[in-house]
Amino acid sequence: MVKIMINPARRVNRIELSQIRKMFVAPNPDTVNLGIGEPDFDVPENIKLAMQEAINENDTHYTPNKGYEELQEVIANKLDKDNNIKTEADNVIITAGASEALYACSQAFFDKGDEIILPNPSFLGYSAWIKLSDATPVFADCYFENEFKLKAEDVEKKITDKTKAIILNSPSNPTGSVMDKEDVKAIVDLATDNDILIISDEIYEKIIYKGKHYSSGAYSDNVITINGFSKTYAMTGLRVGYLNANEQFNEELLKIHQYCVACTSSISQRGALEALTGPQDSVKKMVKEFKRRRDLIVTSLNDLGYPTCNARGAFYVFPQVDDSNTFVRKALDNGVVTVGGSAFGSNGKNHVRMSYANSYENIELAMERLSKI
Ligand code: PMP
Repeated sequence: MVKIMINPARRVNRIELSQIRKMFVAPNPDTVNLGIGEPDFDVPENIKLAMQEAINENDTHYTPNKGYEELQEVIANKLDKDNNIKTEADNVIITAGASEALYACSQAFFDKGDEIILPNPSFLGYSAWIKLSDATPVFADCYFENEFKLKAEDVEKKITDKTKAIILNSPSNPTGSVMDKEDVKAIVDLATDNDILIISDEIYEKIIYKGKHYSSGAYSDNVITINGFSKTYAMTGLRVGYLNANEQFNEELLKIHQYCVACTSSISQRGALEALTGPQDSVKKMVKEFKRRRDLIVTSLNDLGYPTCNARGAFYVFPQVDDSNTFVRKALDNGVVTVGGSAFGSNGKNHVRMSYANSYENIELAMERLSKI
């Protein structure tokens, strides 16, 4: 092979590969992996069947760019019923997971010089997408003492005349925190008063044990609401999600979506349609089991001397440790994969993220191993 020197684009040099993805490579078969960001459940049978039918019917062609109209309509109704967001089917774009929706938002709206406010700590994709669009991430602090909930006053402190957007994520990855209604409303007001766009990532909406989910899109149409099927229906590999945005935003977003993926997989869209219109008992069952594991992991970690909030949603806990690098290394030496909290922002420095998307028995085993470090 001829070796030639090709430099990557500067924007790519600004980001690194995900530390969590790297973790997938590590463990030997005996290792308990608490680094995982996806449900350990299978896709419900009715959804599998719908996708098999799609293949048998040769529903394997391009779909409309925004997705199947029937699915857009079902999502618009869902947004009205569950989230109190009044919208039209045409304002919904079916995306290749929430990831593509977030990428499209950043490419369509962020520019060099723009500041984008995001929670500290938060999902590591956000800063990568912000940097890929040449904008600057500005972290709003979340505190252990507040169960890591993002508070409106901490967002307000970070607003400048360069602020272009605020990213919300409730329930949160990596902390499991669920925002209070007053903060959601107050942040919407701040955004309206200062001409700032809100991007609301609601992918863990249905995985909630205490409190209620409040959508910022219910209070303003200056919000792009993002959701998907990866977590609620364990459909991570099927790459299907969606965004809802008013007409004006929608047109810009469609430009990115159209040239990026053309449309989302027809088969996954058929699965998504069944997910929303079919029985919801698998979701209830999954959330009930997650709660059982959450109770186990929170109690065990607190007993072991790692202060841990009783996470209200998602499937992560974010215990406090003395030094996260040392903890992650020692845990791995003892057969437990965790993720160092600083991957999610500087406020994660003395924390690690543990996912309980693993069996109850494995979590018990992991806690026993951690008791020895
Ligand atoms: N947002 C958050 C907060 C996430 O945790 C994830 C997945 N880890 C995503 C978005 C991306 O989800 P999807 O599979 O729908 O692209």
